[in-house]
Amino acid sequence: MTWHVLGAGSLGGLWAARLARAGLPVCLLLRDQRRLAQYLASGGLTLEQDGHTETFALPAQTLDDAAPIHRLLLATKAYDAVPAAAALSSRLSAGAEVILLQNGLGSQDEVAACLPQARCIFASSTEGAFRREDFRVVFAGEGHTWLGTAPPSPAPAWLDELALAGIPASWTGDILGRLWRKLALNCAINPLTVLHSCRNGGLQTHAEEVAALCAELVELLIACDQGDAAVDLQAEVERVIAATAANYSSMYQDVAAGRRTEIAYLLGHACREAARHRLELPRLQALALRLRAHLAARGLPQD
Ligand code: NAP
Repeated sequence: MTWHVLGAGSLGGLWAARLARAGLPVCLLLRDQRRLAQYLASGGLTLEQDGHTETFALPAQTLDDAAPIHRLLLATKAYDAVPAAAALSSRLSAGAEVILLQNGLGSQDEVAACLPQARCIFASSTEGAFRREDFRVVFAGEGHTWLGTAPPSPAPAWLDELALAGIPASWTGDILGRLWRKLALNCAINPLTVLHSCRNGGLQTHAEEVAALCAELVELLIACDQGDAAVDLQAEVERVIAATAANYSSMYQDVAAGRRTEIAYLLGHACREAARHRLELPRLQALALRLRAHLAARGLPQD
């Protein structure tokens, strides 16, 4: 069965190239004829990994092609996921499987609501990739991808294809816990690196602010029935800050490059859930206000 990959960006390109390298059928889905022409002119999708460069002349289609889709990897940013899914809805067969690679929370439920005929599988990945240029992806950091459904269901047989393609992935019965834990780590680190204009390690001089945020995030996780994701949160946040001290966070990099952030699906989602549970979390709410003001001052979207 063909792997249709929507979003030939960093993560989508990384998955598409590895699946193709393993001899599995892959088809890229690009937004329009202009993008398709650019892709064809580039000669294919190029992956840079461990000093090696390989180009894959994968077939590609525009979204409005008529061919049916049975398996889709949706690899857009969270804020692009619903429009992209809606544009493909009529092509998805009954029982089609859709793997959602978006970071944060909120977009997965929005996509599932607009694709009632599909089985939506959520993913949480610690792999790292970036685009050197259009259709040229650099594999920048090894990691692992967790996959699962909410509520939990049995693993699909195609997990073996990921293993064949060298994509480290596991099926989990608690994908929401994984996504919530990652969201909490993000909320405790990324916005502060933007506001203090520092690398992750710079937060070691703001330890009290980080600790106070962690305490509120633990309250939120427990209220959202995600107690397991709350265990030792502050200790892990401190470990991540120390282990990635020299790195700039993804949100810092987005703001520095003038790119839209995924705030609505990270800190924004945390604040919306706090309000839904009538929780008073003043540090988190103040952080969201400060971050939105910072984005507005730079002419960037606040959602
Ligand atoms: P990215 O490099 O910006 O790629 C997104 C891709 O989606 C772009 O190629 C874009 O096309 C495409 N796209 C958006 N709307 C589309 C549409 N309607 N039709 C066709 N294509 C469309 O983003 P990314 O870094 O791969 O991130 C994807 C998700 O993975 C995010 O939620 C991110 O947080 C998460 N994630 C990323 C990494 C990483 O290391 N990159 C790691 C973990 C998680 P154009 O090129 O035409 O704009």
